[in-house]
Amino acid sequence: MSEICESGRCTLCKLCINVCPKQCIRLDERPDGDTVACKDDDICIECGLCEKVCPSLNVVDCNYPKKVYAAWTSDSEIHKVSASGGIAAQMYKETLEKGWYIVGCEWNEDFEAVYKITSDIEDIAAFQSSKYVYSNPSDIYLKVRDIVKEGKSVLFIGLPCHVAAMSSYATRFKFRDKILLVDLACHGTPPAKYFKQHIDSVKKQLERNVTGCFFRDPKFGTDKYFFTLYDGDNLIYKRRVNEDLYCFGYHKALIYRECCYECRYAKRERCSDLTISDYHGLGTLTLYTGNRKYVSCILVNTEMGETFLKALNNLIKYERPIEEPLRIERVFNQPYQKKPEVDLFKKEFSMIGDYGICARKIFYSLSLKARNENRNISVILRNFMEFILPNRIKFVIKKIVKNNIIN
Ligand SMILES: Cc1cc2nc3c(=O)[nH]c(=O)nc-3n(C[C@H](O)[C@H](O)[C@H](O)COP(=O)(O)OP(=O)(O)OC[C@H]3O[C@@H](n4cnc5c(N)ncnc54)[C@H](O)[C@@H]3O)c2cc1C
Ligand code: SF4
Ligand code: SF4
Ligand code: SF4
Repeated sequence: MSEICESGRCTLCKLCINVCPKQCIRLDERPDGDTVACKDDDICIECGLCEKVCPSLNVVDCNYPKKVYAAWTSDSEIHKVSASGGIAAQMYKETLEKGWYIVGCEWNEDFEAVYKITSDIEDIAAFQSSKYVYSNPSDIYLKVRDIVKEGKSVLFIGLPCHVAAMSSYATRFKFRDKILLVDLACHGTPPAKYFKQHIDSVKKQLERNVTGCFFRDPKFGTDKYFFTLYDGDNLIYKRRVNEDLYCFGYHKALIYRECCYECRYAKRERCSDLTISDYHGLGTLTLYTGNRKYVSCILVNTEMGETFLKALNNLIKYERPIEEPLRIERVFNQPYQKKPEVDLFKKEFSMIGDYGICARKIFYSLSLKARNENRNISVILRNFMEFILPNRIKFVIKKIVKNNIIN
């Protein structure tokens, strides 16, 4: 088995797997949970196609934004349940009405984020809201091509590294004019394994099933970043970023995949037609007196993007100075830097293989420090129960409390 692109550069976009005529590209999961694409040298016929399409090995066509808008949907129902301005859902809705297909990312039953292509308006709800974890493109590129062959156009919204792969594939197979590419500003994504283990450990701790998950639960205001889990309609877990070891690791950039710390797309030049993000720094360059809550930023990168945007009827948008979001939003300038804890965590995970144990050991004290700022006695007790006590002792305490209540 040999790597297709050098270690730390593979984004696991899976485009090589989609194009390989011998289907001899396998996923190689490393002990630290990172996974890269490798070819099986015994079967490979050295046609070179995987290397020709790989966005990490080739120059990706990028453009400096031509225009910038502060924007949000005028549909209050969509706005309420989106991460910021509900831009993605509004784009989906209007393109479906025109007879296009749409691509987005939803949870599967194992809480892996997966890409899906659909023409069903009911699917938009599952795409809404940010999933802060690696999303699996699987065979999405082939599926998009099949739809395009039927004469349809496609709106593809995804992470920049996956949009770059879609762009590379569509350009090579000459259907780039049939697909509108929208990338998200992206700080990074951890391996799916970390998140799955985290959910499993909460399930075990609470002795509940988990059927729903939000990183920015709209019920509590998406700007508050409450991480919540649901069992059916019942809210069973609600934590602030500093109180949950996955969210803390994520937002402090401690658990990303190796490629994210070297991200080739964390820059001003974009590989998409449009880029969407939260609007950080709104009003810092010129006066802005409009709505400030739940406002998205749209970077217009190509003429195709501009035409598409003009045709949307239900977006409220205000043109802003191009430099305004570009100066403030970190991932429009550089990737997140690797802190010393990142390698310590990965080393630990390679030996132990358990997210909770390793996170507690490597960065629990950092999260505690962050929590100290607004701590009260119930938070202290809950943290003690949750993060310090071994599971067996927690179990005994729970039993005693239960028995006392029953008695
Ligand atoms: C991993 C990740 C990192 C982000 N980092 C930043 C950042 O650093 N700065 C910033 O301003 N904004 C960031 N965003 C974007 C932001 O959270 C909003 O998605 C964006 O502002 C659009 O707003 P909305 O209201 O339309 O979003 P939403 O309702 O959240 O729209 C969701 C859209 O994002 C797609 N999506 C959600 N999760 C994933 C995923 N894991 N992989 C692929 N597609 C996904 C959905 O399919 C849908 O198209 C990030 C998003 C993600 C998923
Ligand atoms: S060189 Fe060709 S056959 Fe070999 S792994 Fe790449 S695409 Fe597959
Ligand atoms: S095409 Fe994508 S998955 Fe394949 S080697 Fe390149 S970056 Fe990795
Ligand atoms: S940070 Fe870069 S490499 Fe990592 S998921 Fe985001 S776009 Fe892909």
